[in-house]
Amino acid sequence: MIRRLLVANRGEIAVRVIRAAHDLGLEAVAVAATSDTAAPHVSYADDVVQVEARHPRAAYLDVDALIEAGRRSGCDAVHPGYGFLSESAAFARGCEAAGLTFVGPPADVIELAGNKVAARETAVRAGAPVVPGSGGAIALESAAEIAETIGYPVLCKAAFGGGGRGIRVLNDQSSLVAALNSAAEEARISFGDGALYLERYLPRVRHIEVQVLADCHGNLVHLGERECSIQRRHQKLLEESPAVCLSDTQRQELGEAAVAVARACGYVNAGTIEFVYDIDDEKFYFIEINARIQVEHPVTEMVTGVDLVVEQLRVADGLPLALAQEDVELRGHAIECRITAEDVSAGFMPSPGTVSKYRVPGGPGLRVDGFLETGSTVSPHYDSLIAKVIAHGKDRAAALARMRRGLREFQIDGIATTVPFHRDLLDDPEFIKGDITTRFRES
Ligand code: ADP
Ligand code: ADP
Ligand code: MG
Repeated sequence: MIRRLLVANRGEIAVRVIRAAHDLGLEAVAVAATSDTAAPHVSYADDVVQVEARHPRAAYLDVDALIEAGRRSGCDAVHPGYGFLSESAAFARGCEAAGLTFVGPPADVIELAGNKVAARETAVRAGAPVVPGSGGAIALESAAEIAETIGYPVLCKAAFGGGGRGIRVLNDQSSLVAALNSAAEEARISFGDGALYLERYLPRVRHIEVQVLADCHGNLVHLGERECSIQRRHQKLLEESPAVCLSDTQRQELGEAAVAVARACGYVNAGTIEFVYDIDDEKFYFIEINARIQVEHPVTEMVTGVDLVVEQLRVADGLPLALAQEDVELRGHAIECRITAEDVSAGFMPSPGTVSKYRVPGGPGLRVDGFLETGSTVSPHYDSLIAKVIAHGKDRAAALARMRRGLREFQIDGIATTVPFHRDLLDDPEFIKGDITTRFRES
C-alpha cells in the first residue's frame, strides 16, 4: 500500500499531485534543487528532499538522485508529473528496482509510446487509422523520394519527439534537406536521438485526443475527448472538452479506437491517445500516445467528475478502476487556458521575475491549478507555465462566460503573462463559433 509519495517534479503539477495524495490521506514529499528550495510547491508538501545539481534543471532530471531521495525520505512510491522524467522508461525501471512504486505506465509501455514510429505501428495493428507517411524512420538519402510518394506538403517529425520540437512542414523539395538537417539537430539536442519520420501534412485539422484509464486487472475505459486545436508552434494554448465538431457516432468511434490502441500497448494507468481530425474528409487519424498525465487533464476531470491523479495512485496501488465505461458520463463543457510567464507582444518571449501581486479567480465553475503567490519568483530555468484556469458550465457558452470572468479577475502583476492573449482569444468571433483548426493562432 502506498503511504508516502515522492513528487518528482515542481510547479503547478507538483502541487496538483500533492493535493491528490492528501485527498487519499497519503503523505507527500516534495523535491527541490538546492537553488530552488524557496519554490512554492515545497510548502504544500509534508516534507522536502533537496537535490544537488550543477544546473537548476538537472536536479529534476537526475534519475539516481531522485530515487535516492525517495528511499532516504521513506517513500514507497514516486509520481513523476509531466515533463522531466515522466516519460523516462529508465526512471520507471529504476524506481521499481529500488522498491518504489512508479505512478505511471509500465516501463515497456513508456518505451513503446516514446518511440512514435513504434507507437504508430501498434496503432495500425489495433486497426486505428493513421496519417499516410513513411511508416518507419527515414534515411536522409531516401527522404526526397519518400516525400514525393507521400505528396507535398509533408510533415517531418522526430521519432522520439515531444512538446512540438523537431517538427517541420516541408512544402516542396527545395527546402527538404535543410529542414531535415535542422529538425534532426533539434531532436538530437532535445531527445538524444535525431531519428525522423514523415507524414502527409494535413492543412485543415483539429487536434482531438482521448483520455484513457486502465488498471492492472484488464479494465480499460476512455473518458471522452479533449480538443486542443488552439496551438502555437505545435504546442497547446487552450483546451476544451467535449470537442464541438464531433457527432455522437464519431465520438463513440474515436473512443473505441483509442481503447483499441491502448489495449494493443498493454496500457496501465492514465494515458492519452492523440488524433488529428481532418475537417475536409471528416475523418480522424492517430498521431501519438502520451504515456503520462497531461497538462490539460483538468478539463476531462470537470466534465467526468473523475479525479485522474487519484485514479493514477489507486491503479498504481493495484486497485481496480473505480468505474466502468457505462459509468462515464460527460456533463457540460469545460475549457482550460494555459497561463504562461511570456510576453505575447514580444513574440511570446519568456518573462521571468517576481510577482508583486497575485490574486486568483474563484466562484462557481472556476478552478485554478497553480502554485504562485504574491512575492513568488518565476525562475528563468524552468517551464514558463505558471497557472491553468479551468472553467466549467452547462454548455460551451456558459463555460466561455465563466472563463471570461476568471481571466478578468486574475491579477498577476510584476511579470508579463498570456492572460491578455487569452482574453482576446475568448472574444474572437471565429473561436466563439468553434470554427478552428490547428493553424488558428499560428504565427
Ligand atoms: P501536454 O499534451 O501534456 O500539454 P506538452 O507536449 O505540452 O504535453 O508537454 C508538457 C510538458 O512536458 C511541457 O513542459 C513540455 O515542455 C514537456 N515535454 C513534453 N515532451 C517532452 C519531452 N519529450 N522531453 C522533455 N520535455 C517534454
Ligand atoms: P508532439 O510529440 O511534439 O506533441 P505530435 O505528433 O503530437 O507531436 O504533433 C504535434 C502537433 O502537430 C499536433 O497537435 C498537430 O497540431 C500537428 N500535427 C501532427 N501531425 C500532423 C499532420 N499529419 N498534419 C497536420 N498537423 C499535424
Ligand atoms: Mg502531441
